[in-house]
Amino acid sequence: MKGLLKRFFLFSVFTILTLNVMAQEKTVQTAGRDQLGEFAPKFAELNDDILFGEVWSRTDRLGLRDRSLVTITSLISQGITDNSLIYHLQSAKKNGITRTEISEIITHIAFYAGWPKAWAAFNLAKNIWTEDTAGNSAKEEFQKKMIFPVGEPNTAYAQYFTGNSYLAPISQEQVNVSNVTFEPGCRNNWHIHKATKGGGQMLIGVAGRGWYQEEGKPAQEILPGTVIHIPAGVKHWHGAASDSWFAHLAFEIAGEKTSNEWLEPVTDEQYTRAQESVRTVVAYFSATGTTAKAAEKIAKETRGELYEITPASAYTSEDLDWHDSKSRSSVEMNDPDSRPEIGGKKLDTENYDVIFIGYPIWWGLAPRIINTFIESHDLKGKTVIPFATSGGSSIGNSTETLKKTYPELEWEKGLLINRSSENEFREWISQAYITE
Ligand code: MN
Repeated sequence: MKGLLKRFFLFSVFTILTLNVMAQEKTVQTAGRDQLGEFAPKFAELNDDILFGEVWSRTDRLGLRDRSLVTITSLISQGITDNSLIYHLQSAKKNGITRTEISEIITHIAFYAGWPKAWAAFNLAKNIWTEDTAGNSAKEEFQKKMIFPVGEPNTAYAQYFTGNSYLAPISQEQVNVSNVTFEPGCRNNWHIHKATKGGGQMLIGVAGRGWYQEEGKPAQEILPGTVIHIPAGVKHWHGAASDSWFAHLAFEIAGEKTSNEWLEPVTDEQYTRAQESVRTVVAYFSATGTTAKAAEKIAKETRGELYEITPASAYTSEDLDWHDSKSRSSVEMNDPDSRPEIGGKKLDTENYDVIFIGYPIWWGLAPRIINTFIESHDLKGKTVIPFATSGGSSIGNSTETLKKTYPELEWEKGLLINRSSENEFREWISQAYITE
């Protein structure tokens, strides 16, 4: 819990820091110099450097949204309905004032400042908030499907997001939980939840459809109820699908020295590719169960499906006796044309883009039943990745032979699973999912 409190504290500090950075960067305004620079240089300077550069930029004391609200109220009250009101209505919208709110704001002003002024302001506001009628009602529609609030525009973190997101604190005691809502197409930058011990993040999808992706792995779809566990130190992003609103609860997991490292945005290309949801199957032949375990490990890592290549007639331990030159396996491996029959249901390769093929190494080669599998399934246009398990041999000869025998297939580098490190394993997996 301590870690969580620390986490929350960091969040607060971070928010303040962000605002300070904004304050230091200052609102860049050139309207004064552009329009009056020659005619009234001092006025232009005061307008651009003092009013906007300093007053508007003190966002650590009063946020931009509130400053917009004060400004448009003052202008409308004075009956100023020229370009300056248009400018301030536009920035009010940018600063997060919604269509519903501006309509309520002007109605309210009408009673204090006068009816005709409200009429004039409405005529301008109508043209500025017009195009997001759909957006607003879409957000309201989305809210109806969700028991947690959409919350407020996520301005504090906007710089780490592509597109608009909203944040609603759900729990600020015991476990810090927020509901994060993403507009269609919105996602956060690549980032890492850092911790020296524990830490990380847990997400639970609550409405709509979104994606979670770890670097070098296929993206995972998040639907209401989907639980995602993000370990500390893993580079990842999360966000909406391009055609759907999306919300997830975000749980900060207790840890030591927790912090967030925000990295580069997810490019449009990475985002599009992630949603193409590469479909993976791990096909394997396992005589003794060792290759089956390796296949399960790959399926878990890639969220792929498993397909066991089952011989029509199972191999007995006598069949597998490689000391006996007359055993079934010896006879098959001595005959390049041997094609042991496969039993069970055929794999519908139509459903997959990436096909891992695993086997134990026999006589330095893939067992002949692997040839039966390849020749009886349409693997053209698929990414085919061999893997193997072996006590003594390397995988090289078996994969070279497969590539030579089936040069029309798109082979990726193979891996001997039981003799590679976790890093080699992960790097090898990622070859199927990373575009160069
Ligand atoms: Mn995260």
